[in-house]
Amino acid sequence: MIIVLLGPPGAGKGTQGEHLSEELAIPKIATGDVLRAAVREGTPLGLAAKAAMERGDLVPDDVILGIMKEALASPSAARGAILDGVIRTTPQAEGLARVLAELGRTLDAVLVVDVPDEAIVERLSARTVCDVCQRPFTGRAPGERCDADDHELQGTLVRRKDDEPDAIRNRLAVYQRQTAPVIDWYRTHGAALKFVDGMGTQDEVLTRIRTTLGL
Ligand code: ADP
Repeated sequence: MIIVLLGPPGAGKGTQGEHLSEELAIPKIATGDVLRAAVREGTPLGLAAKAAMERGDLVPDDVILGIMKEALASPSAARGAILDGVIRTTPQAEGLARVLAELGRTLDAVLVVDVPDEAIVERLSARTVCDVCQRPFTGRAPGERCDADDHELQGTLVRRKDDEPDAIRNRLAVYQRQTAPVIDWYRTHGAALKFVDGMGTQDEVLTRIRTTLGL
């Protein structure tokens, strides 16, 4: 099963994608995670992507296409994948269609998680992430210790550079300008488009997603 998750930054795609990945036993592919790991490791990919990411701008389509191809062709994605934030421009949607055709695969659903702008600004301004396991926390201050218990070295909570107010505003503008049109692209290309309200608790949203996807 191949599912594309669309929706503004902070809509909860990562969290819900993680739940779906476990339930369906297929990997979650998140270009944001791949790029952040590359920045941390200082690889050429990371060096090229760092500045754009910190401003909240998109990295070039060909970079994303490369990540997408490699991830989908890997044996771990043989049974499917949840694509979280992988498609943010129309050329990327076209690129994914080409990659899937080459691999003889089909896209099963495009799930759009909707959250109003005010709620996004609130969520992202209150978000910190562990500098070791990268898990996000809401309402915990920078400098606190991560209490996730599945990694030995307990990290420190830090704010993502692109969760600063200017970068948040820019990410929302970029979403409206470059990613929202992707919904129409999928509509005109016959994809199974599904919309889900991303407000409420994680469990409430997950229940809606299950119903919407018929799981
Ligand atoms: P969010 O969805 O919260 O904005 P992500 O962690 O998914 O954050 O992505 C972080 C950043 O990585 C984006 O703001 C962008 O700079 C870059 N990025 C991730 N995926 C893509 C993509 N498909 N196209 C272009 N840039 C991307």
